[in-house]
Amino acid sequence: MAINPPDNVVNPDNQELEDDVLDPSGRSAYAKLKFKPGAEYPKFTLQGKTCYNAASCFYLSRKQGLSSAKIDDTLLSYLDTCKREITMEIPLRKDDGTLMPIQAYRVQHNNARGPFKGGLRFHEEVNLTEIREMANIMTWKCALVDIPFGGAKGGAAVNPKKLSTHELRRLTKALVAHLGDNIGPHIDVPAPDVNTNPQIMAWIYDEFAKSHSEAPLAVVTGKPLELGGSQGRLEATGRGVAIVLREACKHLKVDIAKQRVAVQGFGNVGYFAASILRREYGSKIVGISNETGAIYNEKGIDVEDLYQYSLANRGDFSGYKGGKAIPRDELLICDCDVLIPAALSNCVTREVAKQTNAKILVEAANGPTTGAGNEVLYKKDVFIIPSLLANAGGVVTSYFEWVQNLQQFYWTRDKVIDELEKRMVTAFWDVVNLSVEKKICTRQAAYHIALERVAAAAILRGF
Ligand code: NAD
Repeated sequence: MAINPPDNVVNPDNQELEDDVLDPSGRSAYAKLKFKPGAEYPKFTLQGKTCYNAASCFYLSRKQGLSSAKIDDTLLSYLDTCKREITMEIPLRKDDGTLMPIQAYRVQHNNARGPFKGGLRFHEEVNLTEIREMANIMTWKCALVDIPFGGAKGGAAVNPKKLSTHELRRLTKALVAHLGDNIGPHIDVPAPDVNTNPQIMAWIYDEFAKSHSEAPLAVVTGKPLELGGSQGRLEATGRGVAIVLREACKHLKVDIAKQRVAVQGFGNVGYFAASILRREYGSKIVGISNETGAIYNEKGIDVEDLYQYSLANRGDFSGYKGGKAIPRDELLICDCDVLIPAALSNCVTREVAKQTNAKILVEAANGPTTGAGNEVLYKKDVFIIPSLLANAGGVVTSYFEWVQNLQQFYWTRDKVIDELEKRMVTAFWDVVNLSVEKKICTRQAAYHIALERVAAAAILRGF
């Protein structure tokens, strides 16, 4: 279905976007955006037609008169700002007795709708700018799927693979001690992210519980099942991806069982998305890639078989006989109907967008499409399910875990899946209906809905 820009949208600069990096300074688009009355579209609104991120979406909605009258410059500026930014230097005592200082951050963007919520990542390249951006996105993601959380993100600039298990545990616990009362079941609830897992969440719970007696299990989500975790949490993001694709097929009036799907990334999100699409909806998974390579099979890949093979071979696809080995990055432009990037940010570049013949893009990874890629896809009329919506299944199920911990009443797996279905389906149709009604792209519709909800809460609270 074509989604054309509204007639009242002017095109202030006809320049083609430079390339895929829209913000070479690495600073937030937000930081650059000044919501001045009468200001021109910033370049990253993609020539005033489609938009790339929250800032450009909000800008576009205002220009088009879609935003509610109460959303003024002051409010947008307020929502642009992170409420609290904690920078820590954690002295980690190594096994050999030496001290290793580690930079760590927790950024709390907005809590107008409920406690801050967001992942905690351990990665060498963690920095404050990136954490800020991701905290910001979490606010809009939680609002879009209508769960009572705000947005946060945290991280430590360290490669956990270079630490022993004891060092990792000491680091995690020291981080919790440094955060003190800045996290808590009704304050800020961390979750797993890059290189953090249920074991690390269990350590967070334990350290927090030492100094807090009230509902400490709900301080963190993504915990092991044996320690207050939720049924269905592990597969939740991949399941959410499959659900929104199923709904997109209904919307586009195509049969999900006839879709040829290519998936970049075969980790938590990619594996479960591919597996559920194949097993439950009968889709043909024609391509799968991971760090080591890619497999293509026009007759369909046996996802479970490839999974077992990669487990047995330390993740390596080489030598797999159930399909043809292709260069890893060719997966993104292979012959398919649906492309699901479920690994990296910024991988759907202008070139990929030009060469793919996919009709549907499901952004399972966070921010997989560059601005220039987005513009090409928009012109090609590719139906995009933006990451804000596509990968929200994880945080929705984290919400269920939090609810179960607070109530001390645990749900069956069927109940979790049923509730996830409801949230994802509602959010999908909220986005599509607005997009069709206002003739705006799905990305703009998703951010628009989220902004209206957060803004309404902030106004009611008298921000
Ligand atoms: P993961 O670490 O479990 O898996 C990542 C996969 O990507 C691995 O198979 C890895 O081999 C593969 N990969 C890495 N580089 C690649 C490359 N160049 N080409 C092809 N494959 C490559 O991570 P995950 O939890 O599945 O997360 C994937 C994405 O989804 C990330 O962007 C993450 O932020 C996002 N996300 C995850 C969740 C979640 O609940 N896990 C929730 C929301 C968003």
